[in-house]
Amino acid sequence: MEVASELSPLSGQEAQGKIVERTSYYPQEPNKRPKTRKEKVKSCLRHNALTMLTVGGVVGGVILGIILKNSKSEKYTPREIMYINYFGDLFLRMLKSLILPLIISSLVSAIGSLDLSLSGKIGARAIVYYMVTTISAVILGIILVISIRPGDGKSGQVEEQKETQNVSTVDTLMDLVRNMFPPNLVQACISQMRTEPERPKNMTDENMDHWKLVEKDIPGMNILGLVVFATVLGITLGKMGQEGKPLLSFFESLSGAMMIITNWVIWLSPLGVLSLVASKITEMKSLDEVVGQLGMYFMTVLIGLCIHGFVVLPSLYFLLTKKNPYRYISNMAQALVTAFGTSSSSATLPIAISCLEENNGIDPRVTRFVLPIGATINMDGTALYEAVAAIFISQVRKVPLSFGQLVAVSITATAASIGAAGIPQAGLVTMVMVLDTVRLPANDVFLIVAVDWLLDRCRTTVNVVGDALGAGIVNHLSKNELSTMPHHHAQSQNGADRLTTSI
Ligand code: ASP
Repeated sequence: MEVASELSPLSGQEAQGKIVERTSYYPQEPNKRPKTRKEKVKSCLRHNALTMLTVGGVVGGVILGIILKNSKSEKYTPREIMYINYFGDLFLRMLKSLILPLIISSLVSAIGSLDLSLSGKIGARAIVYYMVTTISAVILGIILVISIRPGDGKSGQVEEQKETQNVSTVDTLMDLVRNMFPPNLVQACISQMRTEPERPKNMTDENMDHWKLVEKDIPGMNILGLVVFATVLGITLGKMGQEGKPLLSFFESLSGAMMIITNWVIWLSPLGVLSLVASKITEMKSLDEVVGQLGMYFMTVLIGLCIHGFVVLPSLYFLLTKKNPYRYISNMAQALVTAFGTSSSSATLPIAISCLEENNGIDPRVTRFVLPIGATINMDGTALYEAVAAIFISQVRKVPLSFGQLVAVSITATAASIGAAGIPQAGLVTMVMVLDTVRLPANDVFLIVAVDWLLDRCRTTVNVVGDALGAGIVNHLSKNELSTMPHHHAQSQNGADRLTTSI
């Protein structure tokens, strides 16, 4: 048996009939795949060194933050915080700049290079995985918050909030679907829309039902709309065959280029994460807040996230693939630390794709298809947190919940996690929907805001774990189909992607 490592692209017919053992992506060193033992150890050390440095960045950030906080008696000024956050800000800006071209190009190229029946199957498997895991996260959260009851106890200190809510669940869900179809793609790169009631001039009526509804532009990329458009474009290019090739090659090349840039940006993650964490700790008021009810709530969410991310999801991965899930997760360490540091699954996307392809050997056609969608709609950690937080708030407010209301909470928490963008504290915004189902005012989120920045980091990490394991499961279930298909990515990246085939 001869093992051939080919730099030249395989044509469809050549790839057919050969067993494609593994596809791998080495953007930094296209011609230097480790061969000898020494080379392998060196390459392994190099990869792990960066991860260890990034973990060191988190620890260093905590230590630096505590030192800075204790070295000054008065509060740090916003300018001082900005200086501490500077490198973190630069790191985030670099990652964010990659999101738009990466999402579009990877979705179009991955979907366009699969044949339609296969992309349909892969997409269906991913969606089933997303739904099952999100709903199980919500159910786990509900079970925990009902048994631990963190919101019970004396709640005299909570003053009543008079404010009434101005958006309903139906409005929010309708906006979610509306955002899927952006009328202007350029605008979708910078803003999304939200329907809000606005009091017409000269109207004295306090009842918002009588106000007019206006579509407002909210700053921030409409990722969902772009994902839908890129998916449709990918399907179309796949269908067009030869005619669609030039545009498909353009997106394949762009996607390869984005991954190469990502691999450069990754090297800034230790410093970036250190600066982000240190500035957040310096800015933090005091941990005294995390006692009593809020502390119990914090622990409930944390326990739920740990059980879901490190027991439930890995067990599912093991059951379906019969492979070691913890090894798989540890290969994702770089992405997980970045998720924790940035609290943004979108910003982590480039690094997550890179870890999956390089360290876990997942087929680029799967990662580039499944991950951008997963990072946008699959948020298990957020779903769990939404359910726990809404029920916690109703416990604090002493609003009893019927079984029907719990079911409503689980449905809206799932929808709220799908609707939340992969940016810091997006879950806090979509929480309004869940609170609405239990008839609580939107303003009640103030009850959990104090600890949200930290929980956000934890739930984002679990969101990324969920996406990564999902890609592994879909890759495993689609192995046979993928191995019989030509590998278009290999054709476009000048040897950056290579196939090792056994003949
Ligand atoms: N920050 C989360 C994410 O990017 C979303 C959220 O729960 O707020 O995945």
